[in-house]
Amino acid sequence: MFKPNLSPPGPHSRMDSLPVPVQSAITRYLSGICFKIVKPRKTVLGMWRFRNNQHEITINSNLEGIQFMLTLVHEIAHVRTWDLFKGSVNPHGQEWKDQYRNLMLPLLQGFFDSHIESHLKKYMKNPSASSTRCIEIRRIVKPNSKMLEDVPMGVTFKVSDGREFVKMRKRRVKWECVDAQGKIYIIPGIAPVIF
Ligand SMILES: [Zn+2]
Repeated sequence: MFKPNLSPPGPHSRMDSLPVPVQSAITRYLSGICFKIVKPRKTVLGMWRFRNNQHEITINSNLEGIQFMLTLVHEIAHVRTWDLFKGSVNPHGQEWKDQYRNLMLPLLQGFFDSHIESHLKKYMKNPSASSTRCIEIRRIVKPNSKMLEDVPMGVTFKVSDGREFVKMRKRRVKWECVDAQGKIYIIPGIAPVIF
């Protein structure tokens, strides 16, 4: 019988949204790190800090599943990079990318859907500072949310503040869109929309 999880949100509560082998690997990764789940922040999903000789990671409490994993492991990669190189490398440079990939690949060994894993493995070849800017990752993380990329050409759509546009033509990863006054806007394909 299904029993709702009534325990108060603790530091590991979001971990429950992941397959057990992934949970245990991440728990190992977190050893020696001060890890906290915090109230959702608007500008960041997760954050790493090194102060008083202690690594601290905070993750927004509204993340779960793949997005929780990608965000948390992103921050753990900062910890590993700092331990190896201190401040001598770029925060999201090659050294960080290598650490992120090394930490992620063991978590993608048949624990998730194979199409999800293959997208994530591809993404891990050159991960970016913000995974939410990647269209494929966004589809995996938020399968039910629509983005400009999904709107057919010539169709009217709304953005989050309620303004309406018509989708016109593609410019690399962005789209030319026109509002009711005929003014042209360039909007990224990943922008969340209603249509
Ligand atoms: Zn980062």
